[in-house]
Amino acid sequence: MIAARQTVIATGGAGRLHLGGAPTSNHFGATGDGLVVAYRAGAPLVHPESFQYHPTGIAHPPALAGALITEGIRSAGGRLRNGAGDRFVDELLPRDVVAAAVWAEVAAGRGVDLPDGGGAVWLDCRHVARLAERFPSVHAKLALVGVDLATTPVPTAPTLHYQNGGIVTGVDGATPIPGLRACGEVAGGAHGTNRLMGNALLEVVATGRATGAAAARAAREGDLGPTTLDHLAAWPGDGPPSPRLLPDDGAAA
Ligand SMILES: Cc1cc2nc3c(=O)[nH]c(=O)nc-3n(C[C@H](O)[C@H](O)[C@H](O)COP(=O)(O)OP(=O)(O)OC[C@H]3O[C@@H](n4cnc5c(N)ncnc54)[C@H](O)[C@@H]3O)c2cc1C
Repeated sequence: MIAARQTVIATGGAGRLHLGGAPTSNHFGATGDGLVVAYRAGAPLVHPESFQYHPTGIAHPPALAGALITEGIRSAGGRLRNGAGDRFVDELLPRDVVAAAVWAEVAAGRGVDLPDGGGAVWLDCRHVARLAERFPSVHAKLALVGVDLATTPVPTAPTLHYQNGGIVTGVDGATPIPGLRACGEVAGGAHGTNRLMGNALLEVVATGRATGAAAARAAREGDLGPTTLDHLAAWPGDGPPSPRLLPDDGAAA
């Protein structure tokens, strides 16, 4: 038990729940714990089933599955091509549109069949100048598996990237539970059900700062009261259920 006047949940996203069996770009700590803790404390969630997919996750080899290839490469001229080598989408459209186009191409049988099952499309960057110099992290990542993006197209597919929904909060991170706040990706609602691009860091910094400041102010107020184990006596047996984060076709991996 930890006694605290203010508690801030900042546990990030839930990509590692692998909604629908999808690969993810998220780190291994992105397991949705904060959503469950808040929900069990009685805090409401908004759009917990809503995720953003980044269109160009590495699809093969499996060791890199889900890792991002930055969309900067598409801005620099990287092309998405189907199994026949044809372009099928404007690569600069929003993430949701490009990801949906990739899925549609694969579903129509025009994708690239991967050796270990599943489908992908090619990301062709052979014509992008000074690729290793301009995109060193992507270059280094693929070099680990012996692939040079400057000379070889790479199989890519949408990767589970960002949790749109989360804990309902005010601008200062406050939830309806006294003393409980949340900020960052675990907090939902800022982007509706479709975050567009790389604006999460702005949101994380802004809500983190506002939430931290509000928590610090509130922590100076009021009396914490005696520290007891009364809450355990009040705990209703099996407790409230966990929130339903994934629809029926969601496969935990
Ligand atoms: C590969 C990648 C690239 C991205 N690029 C961009 C970009 O260019 N621009 C942009 O705006 N956004 C980008 N994003 C999104 C953005 O990085 C995230 O939304 C943001 O970092 C989330 O910050 P956070 O502090 O809320 O959570 P996180 O940074 O995920 O931090 C949460 C922390 O809580 C820890 N944690 C989780 N559960 C527990 C627990 N039960 N107990 C203790 N600790 C726990 C986690 O291990 C982690 O350290 C990217 C995301 C990824 C995955």
